[in-house]
Amino acid sequence: MPEYILEILRRLTGAGFSAYAVGGCVRDTLMGRTPHDWDVAASASCGEVAALFERTVPTGLKYGTVTVLLPGGRAEVTTFRRDGPYLNGRRPENVEFVSDLREDLSRRDFTVNAMAMDGQGRIVDLFGGREDLARGVIRCVGEPERRFAEDALRMLRAVRFSAALGFAIDPDSLAALRRLAPLTEKLSAERVLAELQKTLRSPRPQAAALMIDYGLLRRFMTENSKIDAGVLADIPEELRTAVFALLVRQAGGTGDAGDFLRALRAPAREAKLAREAWAALEELAEEPADRDIRRALARRDVRPVLAACAARGVYGRARELAEERQYTRPKDLAVKGSDLNALGLEREAIAQALLALALAVTDGELPNEKEALLAYVKRRCSR
Ligand code: ATP
Ligand code: MG
Repeated sequence: MPEYILEILRRLTGAGFSAYAVGGCVRDTLMGRTPHDWDVAASASCGEVAALFERTVPTGLKYGTVTVLLPGGRAEVTTFRRDGPYLNGRRPENVEFVSDLREDLSRRDFTVNAMAMDGQGRIVDLFGGREDLARGVIRCVGEPERRFAEDALRMLRAVRFSAALGFAIDPDSLAALRRLAPLTEKLSAERVLAELQKTLRSPRPQAAALMIDYGLLRRFMTENSKIDAGVLADIPEELRTAVFALLVRQAGGTGDAGDFLRALRAPAREAKLAREAWAALEELAEEPADRDIRRALARRDVRPVLAACAARGVYGRARELAEERQYTRPKDLAVKGSDLNALGLEREAIAQALLALALAVTDGELPNEKEALLAYVKRRCSR
């Protein structure tokens, strides 16, 4: 445990409160991983926490959360709480602050996320979290149907954690998830997207296909078509959202890859990339050969072409050809639009001729030399 977390726990317990590191940081520590952040739960109220530390930020008073800043780092300190009634499967309308760690742990989603650790490194594990960690299982705390009905986001989180940790979803929890999947229709698109993208950025991005299989993305799709998402594991993270949209489009799950991402409230640049990539994909052969990939690179920006090639299963080759610059784009030609204008061509015809030249150079039919290029255009115009 980092020194600044120990310091937070010491000050709280020194003032007579109980305090623990909780949730993901305990899970990651027990797995031998370095947690990316630390959360603390304590019997102290926000005001009591704020009084004990020099620098605090009231990040979520309604939910009992104060961020404590120490020279060594920061942590969110949350008052032990029990969630109030969940209305319409959304966030609880109110939370009740309780002095009991058990209550706080029992409101958490999965057993592996519901453990606490005190300043001496002692683990509080009331729901079999350690055993599930050892078995590699994501299992709801308590009755799965009830927990998913309370908060439908937990169904997406189950898939996300199973992808991130490489765990299976416990059969009872999975059966409940399959039954209650339609409840995710009420979730905000932003929250759904966040879980989808965390899954896509995980070591097992292909698990995103399970979100479709289980019906968790139903409302964003025209049809719940299964996708084959194996290619996602072989491509860089920054292309995965767009390629996921292409796979959904290829499977007939949406009429437009860009609209699919817009409905999920993805950033406009992601939707634009998906749209351009779809246009590139439509020009690409089913099983693209090097020549097809080079031609695609000559026509369009690299990223959409790489995304399209990923959806066609040839990402690795496309990246090589792109890196080796095995293509010539119209702007790379030894002639300019003005040179063609001098031959008597008009705007539209100039653009067409430049593209034809770029493709011919890319194909190796022509050297990228001014005279040869002009001769080629003259020959074609006279035909
Ligand atoms: P990560 O490493 O991805 O941050 P995490 O376990 O810290 O994983 P968070 O989403 O940061 O996950 O949530 C922190 C903790 O809060 C979880 O470990 C879990 O105990 C609890 N939690 C978060 N969201 C929910 C939810 N929707 N329902 C129940 N408990 C939740
Ligand atoms: Mg976290």
